Amino acid sequence: MLNPTDLPTPLLAWWDAGHADLPWRRTKEPYAVWVAEIMLQQTQIAAVLPYYERWMARFPTVEALAGATLDEVLKVWEGLGYYSRARNLHAAARVVVEEHGGRLPGGVDELLKLPGIGRYTAGAIASIAFAVAAPAVDGNVIRVLSRLFDIDRDITQPAAQREFWALAAAALPATRPGDFNEALMELGQQICTPQAPHCLICPLNALCLARRRGTQLERPVRPARRATPHHDVVAAVIWQDGGPTRTGRFLITQRPAAGLLGGLWEFPGGKVEPGETMPEALRREIREELGLAVEPGAFVLAVAHAFTHFRITVHAFHAAYNGGEPQHLAVADHAWVTLDDVERYAFAVTNRKIIGQLRLELGG
Ligand code: SF4
Repeated sequence: MLNPTDLPTPLLAWWDAGHADLPWRRTKEPYAVWVAEIMLQQTQIAAVLPYYERWMARFPTVEALAGATLDEVLKVWEGLGYYSRARNLHAAARVVVEEHGGRLPGGVDELLKLPGIGRYTAGAIASIAFAVAAPAVDGNVIRVLSRLFDIDRDITQPAAQREFWALAAAALPATRPGDFNEALMELGQQICTPQAPHCLICPLNALCLARRRGTQLERPVRPARRATPHHDVVAAVIWQDGGPTRTGRFLITQRPAAGLLGGLWEFPGGKVEPGETMPEALRREIREELGLAVEPGAFVLAVAHAFTHFRITVHAFHAAYNGGEPQHLAVADHAWVTLDDVERYAFAVTNRKIIGQLRLELGG
């Protein structure tokens, strides 16, 4: 029977023999660890690297972040996705400055009270930055533990989740808990990979029950996948004076702060309802969001994008504007901008592609 306390010695020896040199690993400074952990939550390391460097240059301290506007924060995060992470970091920085004198608290319970910090992130920050013996269980760690202990329960069940957290806690060494947690995650990223685990070079291969039984690829056990729903979405490039021109102004709107992509700017529009044509959907959405009457014109571009639980295809159209002042019926703000102005605003990736297509059509 494998004992969780058998894991630290070979795992830490592997970690000490060499691990990836990443900028956030060169420091134990709590703010830097926190920013990295939030960025890494749903994003690959390679994609995070340039964003992390830019973020730390722009907001080097928790005070600098707390003093920034949400627009500035979203602009630096633009393109990294899952924007609630940026909004929560910003909100939490203000709490840290106002309630903790600018110092991130080191205990798991206090960290959990901050916006955007869940159990995994609290454990990671507490163990890495404050040497607290707290487990940190993410998808990589679940995969490694499910194989090491050959756990055949559905990992989405609460009882299985409790088992993984209990195993991770039992395995934690009293000294170097941060290194242990990071080593377990790195093992999951580099060695115990989802499709083709490198068992031959794994530092834990002599202990691993799944390897002994040949069940590595059957672990972790997940429920059968349901098909991801798909929605068609229309978006309008509404021109202020006549049709599309290189220097003409078009309308962009800001999403309400709460909810998906909150605070980001976009071309107004929305979901196509069953039975509606795209022009009908576009007229209705613009009326509902802005109280404006528009006439859809030429097609610009279709962009597909996958969120965690659904997929969308955004169909963008030029649109003629029949006058009137935009009302903020379902938007936080609006602006009439040229193609040169848009760089000042933070957009989601689908809208950036529409802007790219406009530049192709109109030059610039
Ligand atoms: S031996 Fe293979 S399956 Fe087991 S932990 Fe190592 S890489 Fe993963």
